[in-house]
Amino acid sequence: EKLLQNQVAFVTGAGSGIGKAAAIKLAKNGGKIALVDLHKENVEEVKKQIEAIGSEALVLEANVSQPAEVENCYQKTMDQWGRLDVVFANAGINGEVTPIEDMEPKDWDLTISNNLTSTFLTVKYAIPHLKSKGGSIIITSSINGNRIYKNIGMSAYSTSKIGQMGFGKMAALELAHYRIRVNIICPGAIETNIGENTWRENEKLKKVQVPIEYPEGDQPLEDGPGKPEQVADLVLFLASSQSSHITGSEIYIDGAQSLL
Ligand code: NAD
Repeated sequence: EKLLQNQVAFVTGAGSGIGKAAAIKLAKNGGKIALVDLHKENVEEVKKQIEAIGSEALVLEANVSQPAEVENCYQKTMDQWGRLDVVFANAGINGEVTPIEDMEPKDWDLTISNNLTSTFLTVKYAIPHLKSKGGSIIITSSINGNRIYKNIGMSAYSTSKIGQMGFGKMAALELAHYRIRVNIICPGAIETNIGENTWRENEKLKKVQVPIEYPEGDQPLEDGPGKPEQVADLVLFLASSQSSHITGSEIYIDGAQSLL
């Protein structure tokens, strides 16, 4: 029997990177997957890959920072399969990389709503569908919540990522009585399309007088940047009953980058 046999997983940001790898991994392990993303063409492609491995997928084009869109995606998932077991709240953007004094309020708002408000919405609107039998929610934060000095210019991103940690722990507390587990994963640098953290070449950031020593090779485990598939292995573990006693945890997957 596969780990997620007959289960339904809802994955945001499923068109690319970590979300795509997780959707495929969960499907290989028996899950039926609701694929949520801004970019329909990308999730259509992921759906094809999932069907090729013998599972089912649903394409849901939506902006997860919009309450009605998130609620509607869950409704369509329930209409399709009649159940929900796993939620991977993963969609995110880097947003503007610029000093705080140059950060436009609208750019701040975009990153916060896209990364943090979206997480609240994705968790909130899952609860009615999970509460009768429990389930597992996984939130993608980042080492960049705690390890901010390595990423100057990403104030909104860091705020959103550390906000997800606090929110995820509160959700774990509030939802434990429904047997809904909530865990937070904190990847280091992972090879995806999210864009380079371009602070080293960013002209505006030259005026931020932070003396940073950036050692060559900033990852103790010298196996190169992480792969989305490696993060997907952790997502599968947290989604499945193999992690049945784990909730409210913050799990780093970064080759010990966050220790430097
Ligand atoms: P990615 O750009 O490859 O994929 C992110 C996906 O999310 C894209 O398909 C995008 O269209 C989608 N998305 C973004 N905003 C959305 C919205 N409002 N509604 C619906 N879909 C939306 O990036 P990734 O690296 O796979 O990022 C996934 C998560 O991992 C993000 O939360 C990111 O902050 C986090 N993360 C990434 C890294 C890394 O190094 N790549 C490190 C730590 C954390």
